[in-house]
Amino acid sequence: MSSSTVITNIATLVTNDPSLGDGSPLGLVRDAAVVIEGDRVVWTGDSSKAPATDNRVDADGRAALPGFVDSHSHLVFAGDRTEEFNARMSGRGYTAGGIRTTVAATRAATDEELEANLTRYLSEALHQGTTTFETKSGYGLTVADEARALRIAAQHTDEVTYLGAHIVSPDHADDPAAYVALVTGEMLDACAPYARWIDVFCEQGAFDGDQARAILTAGRAKGLHPRIHANQLSYGPGVQVAVELDAASADHCTHLTDADVDALAGGRTVATLLPGAEFSTRAAWPNARRLLDAGVTVALSTDCNPGSSFTSSVPFCIALAVRDMGMTPDEAVWSATAGGAAALRRDDVGRLTPGAYADLTLLDAPSHVHLAYRPGVPLVSGVWKRGVRAV
Ligand SMILES: [Zn+2]
Repeated sequence: MSSSTVITNIATLVTNDPSLGDGSPLGLVRDAAVVIEGDRVVWTGDSSKAPATDNRVDADGRAALPGFVDSHSHLVFAGDRTEEFNARMSGRGYTAGGIRTTVAATRAATDEELEANLTRYLSEALHQGTTTFETKSGYGLTVADEARALRIAAQHTDEVTYLGAHIVSPDHADDPAAYVALVTGEMLDACAPYARWIDVFCEQGAFDGDQARAILTAGRAKGLHPRIHANQLSYGPGVQVAVELDAASADHCTHLTDADVDALAGGRTVATLLPGAEFSTRAAWPNARRLLDAGVTVALSTDCNPGSSFTSSVPFCIALAVRDMGMTPDEAVWSATAGGAAALRRDDVGRLTPGAYADLTLLDAPSHVHLAYRPGVPLVSGVWKRGVRAV
C-alpha cells in the first residue's frame, strides 16, 4: 500500500465542492486538512477530525487550493518576440501576422531546443502553482513540424492540441484552400496520434467560420475533440461554431454579441478568458461579469505564448480578472481551477475531494483572496502534483 500524508492546519481550503464547508461554489473549509494517498486525495475536512496517516505536513495557517488547471498555452516554440512587444508598447497594433516570426524560429530549432524550452516554461508554471496544462502545436505549419511539436508536447501532458490551423502557412499564402486541405488531410493524419484536441484560430487574417467548421469536423472524424480560438480580435462566427460543434471551450471571447452569450449559456462549451493577451496587447478586456451573469461556465488561463501573452502565471491572470474583468476573487479562483478542468472536460483535477488527483497548491497567505489582493507577489510556497511534493 502506498504511504499516506495529511496536510493539516490549513487556514482556508478551497475544495471546489459546494457540498463541503461554507456551501459556496468554492466549498471553503476553515482550519482544514487534506489526506493524500498515492496520487489521490482520499479525505478532506476539519483539521481536528483528520484520520491517522504515515506522514504529516503542517501548513501553519496557510491557504490551500487545487493546483491551477491552465487549459490554454502555446509552449512548443523557439525564439522570442521582444522587439515586437517593445514596438507594440510604443504604439503599433497587434495583428495575427506576428506568428510567422515564431514559425521561422521554431522550424529552425532542434528537437532538443524545443523540448528544453517547453520544460523551462513548465517549471516556471509549476512554481506558480500550475499542475495541469494544455499546450498546442501551431508554430510548425508543415506536416513534419506540426507532428514534431505534438510528439514533444505529448511527453509532458495528456492535454495536447493540434493547431495546424493557427494561421495559413506562409508556404500557402496564395492558396489558403490548399492549406485547409493539408490541415484536414495529410497533416491531421500525422498529428492525430499525438493529440487529444483540435483547435483553429477563427479570426480575420486567420480562418473564417466555414474553414473553422471544416477543420474541427475533420478532426472530430479522426477522434479529436474540438476547441477554438474565437472572437479575440473582432466579432465573428467562432463562438457560434464552437457551440454548434459542442467544442469543450471557446477561448478568448473578447468580442461577443448578445447572441454569442446566449449560445454559450445554452450549451456545454466553456468560455475560456485569457487576460494575459489583452494585457500584453493593450486591448479591451473580455467582460467576464456579462458571461457569469448569463450563467456561462468561465475558465481563466494564461494563453502563454511568445507573441501575445508571454506569462506562465495563473495568479497574474487571476489578479487581472478581478481588477479589470468584473470577477470576484472567489470566481476567479474557481475559474482557474475547476473552470480550467471543465474546459478540458476533466473531473479528476481542479478540486480537492476524495478521488481527485492530489494536485495542491499552498499559499504563503491565509486565504485564496490574496492571489488578487497581492498582485505580482510570489505567494506559492508549496505544490503537490499527483501526490508528490514538487515545490
Ligand atoms: Zn492561444
